[in-house]
Amino acid sequence: MKKMLLLIGISLLAGRLQAQLTPFEQSKDKNYTATYAEVMAYYPKLVKQYPQQVKLFNYGSTDVGKPLTLVVVSKDGVFDPAKIKQQNKRVILINNGIHPGEPEGIDASMMLVRDLLQKKKLPNDVVVCFIALYNIDGSLNRGISRVSQNGPRAYGFRGNYRNLDLNRDFIKADSRNALAFMQILNTWQPDVFLDNHASNGADYQYVMTLIETQKDKQQPLLAEYTAKTLSPELYKRMDKSGYEMIPYVESIKRTPDSGIVAFLETPRFSTGYTVQHNIISYVTETHMLKPYDKKVYATYEFMQHLIDVCQRDARQIGELKQRADEQVKQQKTFALNWDLDEQKFDMISFKGYQAGYKPSGISGLNRLYYDRSKPYTKEIKYYNTYKPTITAEKPMAYVIPQAWSKIIDLFRLNKVAMRQLKHDTTLAVQTYYIADYKTGTRPYEGHYLHNNVKLNTINNNRVKFYEGDYVVYTNQAINRYIIETLEPQGVDSFFAWGFFDSMLNQKEHYSDYVFEDVAFDYLKKHPELQQQLDNEKSKNPQLAQSGAAQLEYVYRNSPFYENTYMRYPVGRLLTDTKLDLQ
Ligand SMILES: [Zn+2]
Repeated sequence: MKKMLLLIGISLLAGRLQAQLTPFEQSKDKNYTATYAEVMAYYPKLVKQYPQQVKLFNYGSTDVGKPLTLVVVSKDGVFDPAKIKQQNKRVILINNGIHPGEPEGIDASMMLVRDLLQKKKLPNDVVVCFIALYNIDGSLNRGISRVSQNGPRAYGFRGNYRNLDLNRDFIKADSRNALAFMQILNTWQPDVFLDNHASNGADYQYVMTLIETQKDKQQPLLAEYTAKTLSPELYKRMDKSGYEMIPYVESIKRTPDSGIVAFLETPRFSTGYTVQHNIISYVTETHMLKPYDKKVYATYEFMQHLIDVCQRDARQIGELKQRADEQVKQQKTFALNWDLDEQKFDMISFKGYQAGYKPSGISGLNRLYYDRSKPYTKEIKYYNTYKPTITAEKPMAYVIPQAWSKIIDLFRLNKVAMRQLKHDTTLAVQTYYIADYKTGTRPYEGHYLHNNVKLNTINNNRVKFYEGDYVVYTNQAINRYIIETLEPQGVDSFFAWGFFDSMLNQKEHYSDYVFEDVAFDYLKKHPELQQQLDNEKSKNPQLAQSGAAQLEYVYRNSPFYENTYMRYPVGRLLTDTKLDLQ
């Protein structure tokens, strides 16, 4: 009887251990990624077994109506972000499945969470938060849409329920997924962020490539630690694990032997957004043509190493983050866009496959191929210097009319400190007029993106604001988010994404036969404008020859013209003005 009970006990235990294998591990060929339903069934089992150290949190909703699930592991069972801060512990946030066709992180995280718990490997000073599956919508749309990829055999689709690429959605936040992400990020306030991906592009020998926040765009203290300490350590440890890495491969010409360019993640990307919060950020990119199991194991190893180094450097990372936050509060000038400096490069050792051209079986014309029987190791150029092309001096504060409620909502979600005007007030602010801009001819991720924005700056412009309008002081750790979104020339500013498009239309004009007489009368009473018109005519023959143009000139320089046309509605308060604030 005793023996029988023991046997039952062992088989129950075995059954439980069996139940903890991930669907990827259970698959015979290891060429399988868990479905959303399988992911959601898996984690609660771990919670049941290790209720003290793993907890699931649901945030908001995604576009498909299901909440975003965060899996948090904490050695001492503290799951309150404020308490974790008090304990001076670090927080790592790991995102998975933003592109569900690149699902390595989903499967690797399921294994890693289990192993951290089961093997009692939870770090003392680091709490790790995993987004189980970010693009749930895309994941449910399972198929074989990444035709150039070697496994898994089925996976989710890149677009979400609204067909958005969620890794372009962080600033504009069209998706509810992005809003839920912001809630997670600003609740847990991680020190380190990782987004797991798989790449497209050239063929080469590495299973994994790595994007680290581009050093010239990163806060200098964090950039120095990332470039000199954290990244080299991760490269070294991955090498030891059998997964030698190289920076993400974006060839400057057709193939990598021409040189590769460091990726510039602007704020629309996850890591371009997290860097605005002074968070050390990485993107892993496994290589599409490597077997799926290798890609999953490489992602697993990377996450484990990242956790280990963060545990080793926990105190240092915490101090750096604090100092970076302080420096950003004081920082006066902010870069809004960057350009690659093609004159500067390092030489790095690169393990590729020889590229060549041969006649296409389809067209008979030359096609590119990589010859895997001809691996090479070469020194190639690595371009990793970016120069700011546009910068802005921060004002004392921005004044945002409450009418722009999406911005207010996003700022609130991002914990931007805001005050409200107590009364209707006319303020002398620096105001931008949009002098020129270019717009893409086709929509990009749901918007007609603007670029090449030119501004006319008017100082001491007296603008009426109303009770409840928002004042945002620029003495905040989150200054980069504030300034890069509110300055219209920012590459991913709210203006660039079309948030202010209603300001770009004129609302009134005139009937020329009526305004002719009004304008004539006005010129008689304002000889200075007549003088101005005459001067302009002598400089500009086109104006001199066009009656309509002269009439328009008078109109635009008269009080009849609407001064809100092309006026960027967010005011820049340059001096420390005493304001009555709520
Ligand atoms: Zn991706």
